[in-house]
This record gives sequence, C-alpha cells and structure tokens, in this order.
Amino acid sequence: MTAKIISGTKIAEEIRGELKQQVQELKAKGITPGLAVVLVGEDPASISYVTAKARGAEEVGVYEETFRLPLTATKEQVRATIEKLNRDDRFHGILVQLPLPKHIPEAELTWAIDPNKDVDAFHPVNVGKLLIGVPDFLPCTPHGVQELLVRSGYDPAGKHVVICGRSNIVGRPLMAMLVQKAKGANATITVCHTGTKDLASFTRQADILVAATGSARLIKADMVKPGVVIIDVGVNRIPDPTAKSGFRLVGDVDFDPVKEKAEAITPVPGGVGPMTVTMLLDNTIRAARKKLK
Ligand code: NAP
Repeated sequence: MTAKIISGTKIAEEIRGELKQQVQELKAKGITPGLAVVLVGEDPASISYVTAKARGAEEVGVYEETFRLPLTATKEQVRATIEKLNRDDRFHGILVQLPLPKHIPEAELTWAIDPNKDVDAFHPVNVGKLLIGVPDFLPCTPHGVQELLVRSGYDPAGKHVVICGRSNIVGRPLMAMLVQKAKGANATITVCHTGTKDLASFTRQADILVAATGSARLIKADMVKPGVVIIDVGVNRIPDPTAKSGFRLVGDVDFDPVKEKAEAITPVPGGVGPMTVTMLLDNTIRAARKKLK
C-alpha cells in the first residue's frame, strides 16, 4: 500500500479561500484585520518566515506591517514596541518572531503581548484557556495539524494519537487540543520525548502519529503499524550536494519507506508548513471579528 499524500499546500489554499471571504465580510462592516510582526535582528530563517507571513496576509487581505529592530535592540526597546502595538487599534494581532537574540528573554516579551492580540497563543492566559477547553486562539501549528487531519477525513475522535515531542510550540498544545471533548478532538493521547524508553513500542500503537522532534528521519518504517496516518511536523536541513543551496529539507519521518506502510502521510515540505501561516491569519481574523461585538 502506498500512502495517500495529505497536501498542506492544497488544504491551506482551501482555507485561505475561506479566510479571504471572511476578510471581505469584515471590511464591509468597516474592519480591516491587522497583523503586526516584530522582528529583531536579521536571522535569515526568521526573515523568510516573516516574509511568508506578510505574503499570506496580503493574499487574504489582512493588513500586515513588520516592525524591524536591530540585533542590538535592548529588552526595553522590544518591550516598548510591543506595548505601543498593544495600544494601536490598526492591529488585532501581534506576534514576535522567535527566536529572539540570546540577550532578550523570550518568555518575558511574548508575555508582554496583550492576550487579546496574542495570535500565536503563547501567552500563559491563552495556554491556560486552551488547557481548560475555552480557547480564544488556537496555537497555529497544532491547529494546522488538526485541520489537516479533519479536512482529509481522519478525524482524531476515538483514535490513539501518539505525539513525538513535548515543546510549548507543538507537542504540548497539540496534546491539550486533541484531548478536549470537542469536535475534531476527543482522542486518546500519548506524548513521547527524549525521556521515553523504547519510543518504537509507543509509535507502533499509533492510529495517528504526529512527529515533532526536530530529529531528521527519526521515525523508521519498523516503528509504525500498517495503516497509520502520519503528520510530520519536523523541518530538518540535511546536506545535499546536488542542491544549489547545498542542503534540502526533510521531516522527522523516513518518508519513502514509511509511506509504503501508512494509510496517509504529509510531505516535507508542503505539509504542515503552509498550514501554520494560514492558521495565524485565521487567528488574526478571529481577533478582528471580536471588534464587532
Ligand atoms: P523542540 O522545541 O526542539 O522540541 C522537540 C521535542 O522533541 C522535545 O520535546 C524533545 O524531547 C523531543 N525529541 C527530540 N528528539 C527526540 C527523540 N529522538 N526521541 C523522542 N523525542 C525527541 O522543537 P519544536 O519547536 O517542537 O519543533 C519540532 C520540529 O518541528 C522542528 O523540526 C521544527 O523545525 C518543526 N516545526 C515546524 C513547524 C511548521 O510550521 N512546519 C512549526 C514549528 C516547528 P525533550 O522535551 O525531552 O527534549
């Protein structure tokens, strides 16, 4: 059996079409959703993520502005920028592009964002609301994973979902989302990490396997059961002398052999990546819609 490919590119396009419509409806009522992105320094990966966010915003009609600070910016300067944006009514969503330079404490600054504008859903208020099942915003990458599953016909309800990785950005919030007694959730969850003894004994039990470890091709074919549905969140650079850049991107799953056993699988790139930006735009529109009330 060769797996069905779950295309994040296609599903993201479908959702962006819906978002475009929602933006038009808001604009007709006098509200243009606005997203402010704070970028500190000139890390090439961060610049490319910020560019993708700006491009996505333009595509669906969200007003976006990137606020660039130099690598030498102090914690106080970044905080002042965030506080100004908290008060700026043009922006319904604010995100601080991570990672921040080492001298700036990430938690302190992402927590400075007004929780009502926290479209990354990293603020403790939003993390807490998600955990107790009353979220204002769903964290972007986990929400992207959920949409990929539901829209491709693999509702997690009643399934055993094994998540490899427990970061605050992916594994942990995904666990909180999929365990809820709610539509598109209601799954039984196992979360694995570097403290897990015999990882394969858990991954083999998965009906749905989500790999979010940042460890290239960690999940081998003998670690999954036939018919598993796999969402590969990982984005890893591996050397490739045939590529112009000298590298290429692979996921956390050993794609070619694993796809022969799986029922469905996401590719890397073209899987979770396009969904993350799309769900960020969804949150920005959601924040703007609150202004109608
Ligand atoms: P992270 O903060 O480094 O967390 C990785 C997690 O995986 C940790 O919980 C770690 O366990 C666990 N882990 C690492 N190696 C493992 C192993 N060999 N066996 C079992 N568990 C292992 O990474 P992250 O931010 O969650 O990102 C994970 C991957 O997803 C990265 O490749 C990242 O680039 C990618 N990502 C993609 C998107 C997207 O939009 N496509 C978005 C976010 C992240 P411990 O907790 O024990 O250390």
